[in-house]
Amino acid sequence: MEQAAILVFSTRLTSAEVWGGLTPDDDTRRFLNTQEARMPTLPMLDKNVNNSPHVVLLGAGASVAACLQGDKNGRRLPVMDNLMEILGLQEILERTGVSCEGENFEELYDDLVSNKEYHSIAEDIEERIRHYFSEIEIPDEPTIYDYLILALRKKDLIASFNWDPLLLQAYRRNIRIQRLPQMVFLHGNVGMGLCHKDKKIGYINTLCEECMRPLDSVKLLYPIKHKDYSSDLLVRDQWNRLRNHLRRGYWFTIFGYSVPLADVDARKLMLEVWNRNSTRELAQIEIIDAKSGSELKKSWDEFIVRQHYGICGDFLGSYLYQHPRRSCEALAAATLMLNPWPDNRFPEVRTLSELHNWIQPLLEEEVKYEKYKEPFRYMTS
Ligand SMILES: [Zn+2]
Repeated sequence: MEQAAILVFSTRLTSAEVWGGLTPDDDTRRFLNTQEARMPTLPMLDKNVNNSPHVVLLGAGASVAACLQGDKNGRRLPVMDNLMEILGLQEILERTGVSCEGENFEELYDDLVSNKEYHSIAEDIEERIRHYFSEIEIPDEPTIYDYLILALRKKDLIASFNWDPLLLQAYRRNIRIQRLPQMVFLHGNVGMGLCHKDKKIGYINTLCEECMRPLDSVKLLYPIKHKDYSSDLLVRDQWNRLRNHLRRGYWFTIFGYSVPLADVDARKLMLEVWNRNSTRELAQIEIIDAKSGSELKKSWDEFIVRQHYGICGDFLGSYLYQHPRRSCEALAAATLMLNPWPDNRFPEVRTLSELHNWIQPLLEEEVKYEKYKEPFRYMTS
């Protein structure tokens, strides 16, 4: 096994492959600075191996699905609609006499920060949010986030809008697999730390690999109508990395993220590059959400090309669960070569090591492809 020497549990993510640098590479910069439409192209196929990325966007619904019974200590994961109730934000508001009846958190928070008089209340709320999410701990048994991380490869990207540290905690306990996807946090994350001086990112409560000082917590972006995604270096970098993947993406999965219409700027940043993706005509969108299909289709309509989309109610029904680590190959085989691969569904397991053992043959295939250019085995059904 190629990676046998590196099985020591890593407590930090220092690799540029995972966190990336804070400066876009030349290719990204060139792309982001040009507006021209690109000629339609095929995905990046090499024999039957598809090197185009699978991009997964996570919203609050995904963290709820990962912890249906609450986190390790029974804390509930909120979505925007029940955030005030679960985090007890009403108490803070009632104390100060601000009425919150019938308002959702997004509208309320936007009102608070738009009014100087209420700035200290907004700060108290931010503190409560950071504190609540900082205490969230992933359950011991494998969660959907473990399956998700293991279902993707290094070329792929998970972009999360969530503040909770569950994805990072899942990542950390699967680190021995090494061939894991990249991650970005579009609204900041309580589990992430940053050294401003050296521009290094890592886990919170760890040290900067350059100056060996503790990393600072990163800014969380709260729900105001017009978010600023460009002035903060880290936020801008995270968005650039998402955009760079989306413009080459072949699969785009949207998991539990249900407010694209409310976040005009986020929508625009994604749509702009998706429309310039030269394989968009052949690419596929999958929405994993418990909401009604027509509502979901409507919110993502601008992104969808013809009938190239699917909706499923939970992660177990998703393409990623049926074709772990091979989603882009299986899609290309089914749609471009008209030779669908048989499903290779994840098993239901009780421990992470069972899951790690199950993906082992897939990892070995990936090594063989990289070393000897051997195609994957499921070339024909
Ligand atoms: Zn440093």
